[in-house]
Amino acid sequence: MRATLMYGAGDVRVEDVPDSVIKQPTDALVRVTTSCICGSDLWPYGSMSPADGPARMGHEFIGIVEDTGSEVTTVKRGDLVVAPFAYSDGTCEFCREGLQTSCVHGAFWDVEPEEGGQAEAVRVPLADGTLVKLPVAADSALMPSLLTLSDVFGTGYHAAVAGGVNERTRVTVIGDGAVGLMAVLSAKRLGAEQIVLMGRHTARTDLGREFGATDVVSARGEEGITAVRELAGGHGTHVVLEAVGNMPAYEQALGVVRPGGVISRVGVPQYEEAPIGFGSLFGHNIRLAGGPAPARAYIEELMPDILDGTIEPGRVFDATTDLDGVPAGYQDMADRKSLKVLIKP
Ligand SMILES: [Zn+2]
Repeated sequence: MRATLMYGAGDVRVEDVPDSVIKQPTDALVRVTTSCICGSDLWPYGSMSPADGPARMGHEFIGIVEDTGSEVTTVKRGDLVVAPFAYSDGTCEFCREGLQTSCVHGAFWDVEPEEGGQAEAVRVPLADGTLVKLPVAADSALMPSLLTLSDVFGTGYHAAVAGGVNERTRVTVIGDGAVGLMAVLSAKRLGAEQIVLMGRHTARTDLGREFGATDVVSARGEEGITAVRELAGGHGTHVVLEAVGNMPAYEQALGVVRPGGVISRVGVPQYEEAPIGFGSLFGHNIRLAGGPAPARAYIEELMPDILDGTIEPGRVFDATTDLDGVPAGYQDMADRKSLKVLIKP
């Protein structure tokens, strides 16, 4: 079968690899019908050392179950399923609390060196806890939107939930990538009173307005902070959804969060140390929330609005390719030519 491998920064190849097969009685083998490239894939694409490669890529996919291990009971051959970006058993104390990314038996796809979603097939561990059956056909027009349940929609929604967004909150979203736009859609869904989107790419912020942003601020730094605070009544917003992950984005969040507010981070932090002292968080009772989204926890909750057409999160996909076009897709996303690339293996 064919699969995507990253050999190092800027070096993505599609190659023949050994077929994925069932190894454990709890596995399912899924033939991938729809996949995509993630904004988080761009971090290694920008910096990965060849010594760490080649690495199989992809953690968002929908596919058809081809085979199951003897202990799998919730999905069967022929089912169309969506996989969240981490696998989990569904039964441990963290899974029962809806924190599947901390599952004691689960993991992120990176720990499976021979599996990845940007491929023709994937062996899915802990299939019963991980996979969710989709009540549509594989050629449904809803596929792009359903695929966002794998990661970006669940991640944006997690940011909003972890930040405590409700109808009494004003919200700033930092970042106009796919997760930032999903954070806007999620804040809207939770009834936020005001949603200020910080982003510089007009096509993306225009989509953000359609998803529910009430204001857009393209300026960064002090100018951007001043603009957001003015829009929000002078003191900043109750909640900041940070969907970028670098230090400038964290500093931006500190600048626009209201005293007593929450910074909820879902952009993968590219730093280990950041200001948390009196002059930053402590002095104004500002809380820090967020982390890897338990996307699995939100799939059943978010799916109905996609199935009935209430929301269309799949609009974040602005390009589609087959596997051969995946390396170019990475480059287009890195160059900001594409927002998010859908893959039809
Ligand atoms: Zn678990």
